[in-house]
Amino acid sequence: MQGTMQDRPLTLNHLFERAERLNPTKEVVTATATGVDRYTYGEWADRTRRLAAALDSLGISPDGRVATFAWNTGRHLELYFAAPCSGRVLHTLNIRLFPEQVTYIVNHAEDEVIFVDRSLLGLLAPLMPTFRTVRHVVVMEDGGQGPDPEGVEVLDYEELIGAQAPAEFGVDDEYRAASMCYTSGTTGNPKGVVYTHRSTFLHTMGAMLADSVGVCESDVVLPVVPMFHANAWGLAHAGVASGAKLVMPGPNMVPVKLAEMIESEDVTLAAGVPTIWMGVLPELAGRDTSSLRAIPCGGSAVPKALSEAYRAQIGLPILQAWGMTETSPVASVANVTTVLEGLPEDELADVRASQGRPVLGVELRIADQATGEILPWDGQSRGELQAAGPWIAAGYYDDPRSPESFTDDGWLKTGDVAVMTPEGYVRIVDRTKDVVKSGGEWISSVELENEIMAHPKVAEAAVIGVPHPKWAERPLACVVVKPGEELTKEEVVEFLDGRVAKWWLPDDVVFIDEVPKTSVGKFSKKDLRDRFDDYTLPTAGD
Ligand code: ADP
Repeated sequence: MQGTMQDRPLTLNHLFERAERLNPTKEVVTATATGVDRYTYGEWADRTRRLAAALDSLGISPDGRVATFAWNTGRHLELYFAAPCSGRVLHTLNIRLFPEQVTYIVNHAEDEVIFVDRSLLGLLAPLMPTFRTVRHVVVMEDGGQGPDPEGVEVLDYEELIGAQAPAEFGVDDEYRAASMCYTSGTTGNPKGVVYTHRSTFLHTMGAMLADSVGVCESDVVLPVVPMFHANAWGLAHAGVASGAKLVMPGPNMVPVKLAEMIESEDVTLAAGVPTIWMGVLPELAGRDTSSLRAIPCGGSAVPKALSEAYRAQIGLPILQAWGMTETSPVASVANVTTVLEGLPEDELADVRASQGRPVLGVELRIADQATGEILPWDGQSRGELQAAGPWIAAGYYDDPRSPESFTDDGWLKTGDVAVMTPEGYVRIVDRTKDVVKSGGEWISSVELENEIMAHPKVAEAAVIGVPHPKWAERPLACVVVKPGEELTKEEVVEFLDGRVAKWWLPDDVVFIDEVPKTSVGKFSKKDLRDRFDDYTLPTAGD
């Protein structure tokens, strides 16, 4: 027997039309190099329709790739909807990738047009001769400086959309591609994930669930996470869908500016990677942060010490989430549930330091890496985390590497090693490639560095495995000391003694000025490994 319900497509047009119809007076605010731009969803919607008409006037193919090389701004939000709602595919380029990676992904995706902020042209313009399919560059004046690219038609965003009448939207196939995003490619070339209207629609609803991030109409959302990093974690779509006020940081990504915006715009929900929140915390001192209700954070493990420092200073712990470009990205969120009621505060802090429970719609499991056997959720068994669900990738765009990332039954192999608790909380032990393999046993670099970062004199710490003649690998701790503080190797090891198993204690501690970061602000273990490539541990002769 079949149901009797209507079959209506889950397209982004519906999210767009809600903002246009239901919330036309709500604001989209963008910080610029020179001040703040404000307009309403009503004006945003009108401009978005004109932009779609402009894509027609430029002759962009019906499913042409529309690339952006841009900060988080209202204009970027116009592109987020004008491209997919007119049938095209939005392709957000990561502005911090190496030049050759940008060239690779622009050519691989066959981008036809690139929309670029003026202040970013210095990075993009020199690459123009390497792009094979780009026919137009549209410059968005953001108050910054940058050279016009040569050898391609250069247009001005405002002139372009000012010359158009608003377009009608008509996408009705929910399986149509809406946008694409490449992984940041820590090894090899980046891999492309293509989201459908349906997957984005459902992911947006996932981000709006109260037991997830819970974006709602009364929120004031500050996506510090870039719009090119895994769909700004769904916040741009969820902001539009719910009618939340959106506060876009533009090029103002420095901690003091972010803290100012949180206070002056009464931000309720601000999301970014841990390194962002490490920098912002001191800037929040003495400010009114009473509007904040959640600080979603992910991309790499949130140190318990960081979350607790937020709880101590502003009365609000960090809300950890786990995900990947391949998972749209929000897949699990560490809300404390009533299942855990009655736990003492320090154990609740451990729960918040986990990666949380799967969001409704997402299935997670752990599997033995050697045999593929599915492992129990007993809080002990470690295995590769695998994911399935309607907003999880089933493959990569035009890439021979797809098969190795998926199981025979279609689950995504995440490359993360995890433990699941009986209550369904995921605890990421490490990335497979970062785990320190010591004498056949595993040491979690994540756990070790989080313990080091609990030391009051430590600003940042990253742990890597370094070759060892007897144990295969042993941990090397790379530590950044807070300004004005002094710390010795012995003090670090002494601090860890009793906090981690004896055989986990790092064989050496080196003090560095800064942990290198990836293009999306995560600790770059790869760069650290390169830097300490020929490092000989003092224990190597033991
Ligand atoms: P990249 O692989 O280039 O870093 P992604 O942003 O897609 O690009 O990264 C996804 C990965 O980030 C996950 O597989 C996981 O290793 C890590 N990650 C994301 N969120 C968390 C988290 N809350 N805790 C630990 N690791 C996380």
